[in-house]
Amino acid sequence: MLLTHTSGGRSYVATRAYAPRDEILSAPMTLHAPVWPCDPALLSPTERLVLASPPPPPPAPAAPHDEAAAALRACAASLLSYRALAVRAALRLAAEPLALVSLDDGWAHRPAAARAYLAATAARLGEALGEAAVEVRTPLLEHCLGAILINAFGEARREGGGEAERVGLCLAAAMVQHSCAPNCEAVVRDAAVSIVATQPISEGSELTISYIDASEPTYSRQRLLWTGKLFRCRCVRCDDPTDGERFGGCFRCEACGRGWQRWTARDGWACAACGGSASEAAVWRWDEARRAELAALEERAADEGPSEAVREEYDGLIGTMLEACHPNHKLLLDARLSKVVHATEAHPSTRAAAESKRLAAHAALTQAARVLPTFDWQKADLHFHLGAASFAIAAAETAADAKKEALDAAAKQLLLSVIQFEAVLGQEAPPTRAARDFAALAMRSLQTLLTQPAP
Ligand SMILES: [Zn+2]
Ligand SMILES: [Zn+2]
Repeated sequence: MLLTHTSGGRSYVATRAYAPRDEILSAPMTLHAPVWPCDPALLSPTERLVLASPPPPPPAPAAPHDEAAAALRACAASLLSYRALAVRAALRLAAEPLALVSLDDGWAHRPAAARAYLAATAARLGEALGEAAVEVRTPLLEHCLGAILINAFGEARREGGGEAERVGLCLAAAMVQHSCAPNCEAVVRDAAVSIVATQPISEGSELTISYIDASEPTYSRQRLLWTGKLFRCRCVRCDDPTDGERFGGCFRCEACGRGWQRWTARDGWACAACGGSASEAAVWRWDEARRAELAALEERAADEGPSEAVREEYDGLIGTMLEACHPNHKLLLDARLSKVVHATEAHPSTRAAAESKRLAAHAALTQAARVLPTFDWQKADLHFHLGAASFAIAAAETAADAKKEALDAAAKQLLLSVIQFEAVLGQEAPPTRAARDFAALAMRSLQTLLTQPAP
């Protein structure tokens, strides 16, 4: 690929065609550190000394729907988790003042309150470095913190847990531009960043990744990009009020009761039927309240384990959502996926448990088929869950015909899971292998049953 300069900044352009799963760029992180707070053993004595100084107090919570306040909250929360990386970067700057100069710090676009908080954090870091007898100029520290906020890549834990356990800067990969309909993804593993094609890319196309969860609705993607990365996305998806006919962020219009309220960056909320406009603040209150309820439910399910009571709570939340939002809304899919993962048994032990898992996975998959791309790991996961539920139903079934039918359904779903996992993760990825092994088991079981002589 080729690095070019355009009005939108630096970006990479494909110098040849690429197929899905092709690795286009791979570079080690220039600098990385564990997510803070971390085990002190992972840090050098100087780093520990500097980190012993507390950062400035986080800002007081402000109106939740205020964009500038959301930017300040995002800035403060990120600075806290990037503390070890910030200290490590500052120590690098002391030896090599130009080390991070190529990275954007977003300073000019940052809201005043976030800029003030970042400046105070930089000043505090400067003092702490001074106590450790390291001198770095404050403007350099401000640039360093700003550049980390805009450019850091997170590396997720290997087994379970979605949280990043390591964050770092990769100068080469930081130049890949954002799109909400990207043609590549960044794979972060072993302190290296790979840019991998997710669809066929023709020669001359710009290479893009999504800096945020691209499955978020437009109104939410715009806010995440603004509060976290300080720019307004102008991609095709962000300009399309129906989000490619998915309506994934639309709400019922309270004024006319017929149309859908749709959002674009240019026009804000507008009803397709009556032209009326929903209140920005009311939408955000609804959105944030439902996310909080879902998070609380997940926590409860993690504590108590799957139960009928937890499943009823999920159904209540899903029902509440359906009263206000479009049936394709992203938060509804989140709730349905979460119900499968957190409110049903991983390995159902009874017929009833298997049946409730099957129903939950089926409902989530029905929506996923409408709103997710052709190949998607969430679809892969759901086919796997559905296959596992059908397999468990077959095991609990005594009538031969019903047993065959359930095994047949299990084999089909598990094969679909293999196809999905292979397309998004590759042939040798552990989830692909697990799905393939399970599909083979289901097919062997079905084969055995079909060749058994009738009693
Ligand atoms: Zn966009
Ligand atoms: Zn209306």
